[in-house]
Amino acid sequence: MKYKTIIQSLGDFKGNRLWMKREDLIPFSFGGNKARKVQLFLREIEQSACDSVVTYGSGSSNHCRVVANICCQRGLKCCVISPKEVSKKTFNSRMMELFGAEIITVPVDRVHDTIEEKLNELSRDGYHPYFIEGGGHGNIGTEAYVQCYGEIKEQEKELGVFFDYIFFASGTGTTHAGLVCGQIMNGDERKVVGISIARKNPRGRDVVLKSIKSYLGEDADMDAAEGATIFVDDYANGYGKRERKVEETVENVLKQYGIPLDMTYTGKAFLGMDEYLAEIRNKNVLFIHTGGTPLFFDIFREEEEYEHPDTCGWNQK
Ligand SMILES: *Cc1c(COP(=O)(O)O)cnc(C)c1O
Repeated sequence: MKYKTIIQSLGDFKGNRLWMKREDLIPFSFGGNKARKVQLFLREIEQSACDSVVTYGSGSSNHCRVVANICCQRGLKCCVISPKEVSKKTFNSRMMELFGAEIITVPVDRVHDTIEEKLNELSRDGYHPYFIEGGGHGNIGTEAYVQCYGEIKEQEKELGVFFDYIFFASGTGTTHAGLVCGQIMNGDERKVVGISIARKNPRGRDVVLKSIKSYLGEDADMDAAEGATIFVDDYANGYGKRERKVEETVENVLKQYGIPLDMTYTGKAFLGMDEYLAEIRNKNVLFIHTGGTPLFFDIFREEEEYEHPDTCGWNQK
């Protein structure tokens, strides 16, 4: 990747030492893990001489915003299929409009067929469309986080530290799969813990394992993968009783460190990390800030204007 993101020391965290990898500061379109993934997709799009992109996601999707932004920058036509059930206006959806993306809102059970229809229509009209799965899911997205894992290894050497734990928000599971693949390939003894923001077990973990297998190929050591894949789903229902706790987490992290989290992804992951570490002391802990800064600002919008999204739309598929 063109840019290496910093790892910032946040000092003592309840008897452990906390660092944060600031993927949110990748210098394109408010950063985040989707900005890291999109650079690899762009390479594919250019190599295959495509001139248009079709993807899908909710109105609050960071992925769709980043894809729409890069398409706008490169002069590629961009079509976003958005499930009606989760297509509320957010700062992300407003930016997608600004970037000139064609946003097609359909009931969630029509998403699959609408993608097919749109790809066919574009081909009929003489375009060469490129399809990106929601969230940048797939081997290319996984590769982005295998690379990120390599970056973390380099930075550990520079910092003279070994991270016993790595925490992050796990959604489609691609970021998670990439980090676990990196861990397996390097044979590192540490805990890579994904905090689920939408899916429950066993499905959530199974999807991560499937992505790992798909990336590593047929002779993947799936016993190692099973052992290394920790998928915590206690926060997947963040909009029930736990919402207030996520809000408090976002507030505290902003006040204490000056770092914005959001209610959908990073706030849940940070809370999940905090509770996971309840009985753990004296470890080196890395939190990967996966981005979503526009969603931070959605928190401050007037309630009548905006209702926080409850999922990212993946669970309805
Ligand atoms: C998409 C997203 C995630 C989840 O990443 P996956 O690779 O889909 O699991 C986490 N955090 C933020 C801010 C995201 O936008």
